[in-house]
Amino acid sequence: MRPSPIKCALCSKELPLVASHIVPEFLYKTLYDDKHRFHQISTDPTKQNKYKQKGLRETLLCEPCEQRLSVTESYMSKLMNGGAPVPIKHAANKIHLVGLDYTKLKLFQLSILWRAGVSKLPPFSQVNLGPHEEKLRVMLQNGDPGRAEDYGCIMCILMDGKKLLTDLVVPPTWARLAGLKAYRFVFGGLVFVFVVSKQSPPLFVVENFAQPDGTVTLKLQEFSEMQYLVDTVSQLHSLGKLARRQ
Ligand SMILES: [Zn+2]
Repeated sequence: MRPSPIKCALCSKELPLVASHIVPEFLYKTLYDDKHRFHQISTDPTKQNKYKQKGLRETLLCEPCEQRLSVTESYMSKLMNGGAPVPIKHAANKIHLVGLDYTKLKLFQLSILWRAGVSKLPPFSQVNLGPHEEKLRVMLQNGDPGRAEDYGCIMCILMDGKKLLTDLVVPPTWARLAGLKAYRFVFGGLVFVFVVSKQSPPLFVVENFAQPDGTVTLKLQEFSEMQYLVDTVSQLHSLGKLARRQ
């Protein structure tokens, strides 16, 4: 177990820490029901799927660091909610966005990955960044988004037939993408796949990452074709049913 935090995980200063979300709250927004709860799926077979109050919080950051990261969050939140309109080009099963603020978008992505890695909360236990954790911390502290291929992230829009699938949260899991280690996050109707490796991913992977020229391609991903999600959800669904019967 990691020791309890007394220093800010980002700037290492000994300042009062604030309870912050590992995954920003706006990404759960669509998941809240009228009682302000969201459905969180548990991958722990001993735990029943249950409603949880509020998003998962943890004391990791000092107030100034929390504020700094929240700038990238509000950019992403506006982008996702139509408050920061950007030109969109639709292709068959893809959406191309142009005119993005690469720095803010990339730092937003990196902050989720890094926070999940630093977190001691059980849903993030599969995210072990090893030496990349410190590299990510330095990038975040310096406001350095890196190159496209540095901890790039493929974002997919999760579809269920013709509808957006927004009511699903799955704890991040690790996988291999083009032979490299990757972490998959699902929330807010999006799948985020981060490639975390010393090696640069092949071009066909890199071209799906956010680019420094402010462009990004989002793939429309049919839920039923996303095998790992289908497996996780059907498995959890049956576990949930079993738990309810007991
Ligand atoms: Zn700090």
